[in-house]
Amino acid sequence: MQKAQKNKLWLSLFLILLAVISIPAIHLFKTKINEQQGIEHIPTGYRDDASHLNLTKVHKIVDVESTPEAIQQQLKTLLKYASEHHLKVSIAGAKHSMGGHTIYPDGIALNMLPYNHMSFDEKSNILTIGSGATWEAALRYLDRYGKSIAVMQAFSNFSIGGSISVNGHGWQKNSPPISSSVESFTLMNAQGEIVNCSRTEHPELFKLVIGGYGLFGIILDVKLKVVDNVALTFQSISVLPEDYVNAYQKIVSNNPDVQFAYGRLRISDKHFLQQATLNYFEKIDKKPLAFSQQQSKNAETKRIVFRGSVDSEYGKRLRWDLESSLNSVSPYATFSRNEILSEDAALIENKDSHSTDLLHEYFIPKQHLAQFIQDLKPVLKTKKVDLLNITIREVEHDHDAFMNYAREDVFGLVFLFNQKKTAQQEQDMQQLTQQLVDITLKNQGTFYLPYRLHVSRDKMRLAYPQTDAFFSLKKKYDPEQIFSNQFYLHYRES
Ligand SMILES: Cc1cc2nc3c(=O)[nH]c(=O)nc-3n(C[C@H](O)[C@H](O)[C@H](O)COP(=O)(O)OP(=O)(O)OC[C@H]3O[C@@H](n4cnc5c(N)ncnc54)[C@H](O)[C@@H]3O)c2cc1C
Repeated sequence: MQKAQKNKLWLSLFLILLAVISIPAIHLFKTKINEQQGIEHIPTGYRDDASHLNLTKVHKIVDVESTPEAIQQQLKTLLKYASEHHLKVSIAGAKHSMGGHTIYPDGIALNMLPYNHMSFDEKSNILTIGSGATWEAALRYLDRYGKSIAVMQAFSNFSIGGSISVNGHGWQKNSPPISSSVESFTLMNAQGEIVNCSRTEHPELFKLVIGGYGLFGIILDVKLKVVDNVALTFQSISVLPEDYVNAYQKIVSNNPDVQFAYGRLRISDKHFLQQATLNYFEKIDKKPLAFSQQQSKNAETKRIVFRGSVDSEYGKRLRWDLESSLNSVSPYATFSRNEILSEDAALIENKDSHSTDLLHEYFIPKQHLAQFIQDLKPVLKTKKVDLLNITIREVEHDHDAFMNYAREDVFGLVFLFNQKKTAQQEQDMQQLTQQLVDITLKNQGTFYLPYRLHVSRDKMRLAYPQTDAFFSLKKKYDPEQIFSNQFYLHYRES
């Protein structure tokens, strides 16, 4: 080959390479600089939650005391004051619920976060923890003992009390929701008394408070069962959505070493819901690294890749391709269990003040998963709200919570949408929720309650036939209905 021809070839290859690298780089750079640093300002005397759509004036916000003696005295006095002045009390942890579950208009709003003590008893393997503590603090504390949290959500900046009150779940394999790891807790009831609740002491209240959205009292001290912190390796495979259940059974359920697993569905217009990945972490015989020895997680790069998918088919494809190729070049990377669980929701933070990210979750019996995904296609194809993500997580039958959403083994499909803060988009989201709930009911599933209040009272009762009994028991334990919030206002009998 002539030298000039060779040079031309090299130049062409160089230009192709440059284009391959620079197009995504420019896209991500544009994403970063277009972010309007719109950190929400909450005026004094107001409260909002993770939806950024619930700004509400409250009577006052009360930060609770941090020690058991002081908090008991403080809350007793406060409940008496609320009763005398006919005020409602709402309770908040990290406020990541999205439907005003932590807010009552002109009510007293409790901030539980300062109540965050913890101690670990090695003999019984039980962590005793204040309900305002976060999972993150608990993980860092337990790491010193070689222990870890048994069941928690996908992010670690939620409070223990909030997590029990929604009965959260994560992506721990073969695991019911958080309820299964709760040994007992103390509750300050509406009369200002401390009640110890467990499966044997006040069992009815135990069941009602777990997944009870703060309507039965204030959870104070929680006893949680914990597990060993172990080293795990990551693996990921591609599967067809229709084969997901079989692949999950073969690769995850049948392998005793797998501790975490989740699926992801492709949501770009190209191959819409036609591809899935199954991602899992398998235990290995190695000492887990302590928190202090772990490396940086490149959280900001991951966040920008995620944000680059908002309103962009290119960004959605790029994210799928980047995550898939990263999964294939870094199999067998090693992590500690605590490191995997320690993830801040800031990883996907939306900094645009004109839009907000909203979650939905639908729990579908395993045998109906493939049909549910089929039914999703026409609904999501015509949606007017931007879909950013769908993950699939296993939740085993829950035998504890009264408002049980896993009445058999199910897969939870978590949807994340980006919604513009306009009346039109709010209406679009409401319509979409109706359609998604309809196909969920058709597939004998339920929907998750901590999100937007876009489901009607009647439809809620189809998904949760125990609702009326739940609200009558609310009145039995709290006749003045002191504990209240917007979730209660929306769903209770009219
Ligand atoms: C980005 C994001 C990711 C999420 N991921 C998951 C997930 O992986 N799995 C999952 O299950 N959920 C998830 N959720 C949903 C859910 O909102 C959270 O699990 C839960 O709200 C977290 O706890 P919190 O401290 O934020 O609770 P909050 O929102 O503060 O409170 C939730 C409910 O608990 C009540 N409450 C709070 N503290 C107490 C207390 N001490 N005593 C009595 N009642 C109390 C409140 O009144 C309220 O009704 C997610 C939410 C967001 C925004």
